[in-house]
Amino acid sequence: MASKSFDNMDGKIWMDGEFKDWGDAQVHVLTHAMHYASAVFEGQRAYNGTIFKLEEHTERLFASAEMLGMDVPWTHDQINTACNELLEIQGFSDAYCRPIIWRGSEMMGVAAQANTIHAAIAIWQWPSYFSPEARMKGLRLEISDWRRPAPDTAPVHAKAAGLYMICTLSKHAAEARGYDDALMFDYRGQVAEATGANIFFVKGGEIHTPTPDCFLDGITRRTVMDLAKGHGLNVIERAIMPDELEGFEQAFLTGTAAEVSPLSEIGPYNFEVGEITKTLMLDYDALVRGEK
Ligand code: PMP
Repeated sequence: MASKSFDNMDGKIWMDGEFKDWGDAQVHVLTHAMHYASAVFEGQRAYNGTIFKLEEHTERLFASAEMLGMDVPWTHDQINTACNELLEIQGFSDAYCRPIIWRGSEMMGVAAQANTIHAAIAIWQWPSYFSPEARMKGLRLEISDWRRPAPDTAPVHAKAAGLYMICTLSKHAAEARGYDDALMFDYRGQVAEATGANIFFVKGGEIHTPTPDCFLDGITRRTVMDLAKGHGLNVIERAIMPDELEGFEQAFLTGTAAEVSPLSEIGPYNFEVGEITKTLMLDYDALVRGEK
């Protein structure tokens, strides 16, 4: 990495159909996406030269765009091909891939019907979302004051830029108090997810995870549920109330960036980095690397 600033790195960025030099992939300050958060994006990881579940990510990218009323002027295949070509151009075998779709500059107000839709893809090296030491000991989460919004107050199933405002606020508050991340409850007060990852719990050899009815149903989440079922574990998707946190033995996060990350604390509650969590961590690693 040439620099710590993301607007100043080496390599190419795919933007609106062209591979541009990294520093030339620019947008104007009067861009609808920047003022009104009209942008959707994906987070993908490549392992051993292959982007894991690329098609699923591209489908979710287009679904998110549709939820925000954006008609993408590219096909799924064009985006998949651009991701794969860019990975090769960047020359990484393990990397993070970030496609984004946004509204341009033709209209600068709440209404945006005439705005052109743009797309870009950037790929960089991002070894671990959380520090490897914190991850192995189990991450420490605080409980956020922010709630995941109700489905009739925001496009909650889209991976939309605007939904991350409360995630950044939650994560900043957690980090300021020495935590790694924050757990968010939802508008009903049920356990929802972390600021950029889904959450799972283990109790009595069974796995519990909140039903994703007002937050992202992560691709990693679904992958890990399948891995757990493959081990004959019972996976229960249901509403989880905060007063249940005390009774869970193990807890872990799942996400493309976070992968499977064990938790040691959520607010006042402690968890062990136990066998089921460790098994799923190893399994996930083997699967994404094509070794399973
Ligand atoms: N929830 C949020 C808020 C996220 O940002 C992510 C990461 N994309 C996830 C859950 C997990 O989704 P995935 O497993 O598809 O990366």
